[in-house]
Amino acid sequence: MCEPKDAAERRARPAVICYPTETLPHPDLAGYRAARAGWKRVASHVADPREAACFEVPAGHFFRIVSVEGPQVGDLNIWSADLSERFYSGKTRALHGTHLSTGDRLWSSFPTLRPLATITEDTLDWYGIDADGGSVHDVIGTRCDPYTHNLLSGGQYHHCCHSNLTRALAQARGLSLSEAEALVHDVLNVFMCTGFTRDTGQYFMKASPVRPGDYLEFFAETDLFGALSACPGGDCGAEHSSDTAACYPLQIDIYRPDAPPAGWVSPTLNGYDRSHGV
Ligand SMILES: [Zn+2]
Repeated sequence: MCEPKDAAERRARPAVICYPTETLPHPDLAGYRAARAGWKRVASHVADPREAACFEVPAGHFFRIVSVEGPQVGDLNIWSADLSERFYSGKTRALHGTHLSTGDRLWSSFPTLRPLATITEDTLDWYGIDADGGSVHDVIGTRCDPYTHNLLSGGQYHHCCHSNLTRALAQARGLSLSEAEALVHDVLNVFMCTGFTRDTGQYFMKASPVRPGDYLEFFAETDLFGALSACPGGDCGAEHSSDTAACYPLQIDIYRPDAPPAGWVSPTLNGYDRSHGV
């Protein structure tokens, strides 16, 4: 198609932030971090390579996803403890951007739309945005899954994050595979380094900068149930959905503070009345 005469002018129109976040209640990070003094680790879980592990986090507790043994990406799902609310990666992306770090929150789906967790520490926050436009901890990449793999490559691969999360959730909560699969949702790609190519806008990944000892720390704003898959892509520097990449476990540690952060209260449900104009 021919460009209109005023194409350059149309392209030069100013970009406007869709969702300015100045009106969001900002988490009191200093208050959260102060609550860590004297905390106790009360549980620890391991997601084995190409498998997923489930965990519970009471409201007011912290949890850390820790890199151990080698560079590894994790696909994270979180729900309210009764599984009625789930993490909404799309709206989280719209509010906080393509990649999350300290101070960002993991928002729940409609109709509750409230923070399920707040990121309180990120040892990879030094990475920033690289020359390719890549960054870490994305909310753009859904999760690797056997359906897309089948479309693109054929075959039956059973250790994509989608299947790992489905199996782990089914086992932990006594659900059928189909019940569990319906609850699995788009993830926070913990430690994964991703972006969109500038020329074609395609989703890309590159080797994660994560090294053993790095962690991403969260504060549980509500009672949470989580599942973390150690992605078959390993550091996702080459490929995923296969048994080729070097894969390592990921550790999930749960911490109980002596007391909740000063002034903290668990977020209320969203205030929209749900009448939809009727
Ligand atoms: Zn994966």
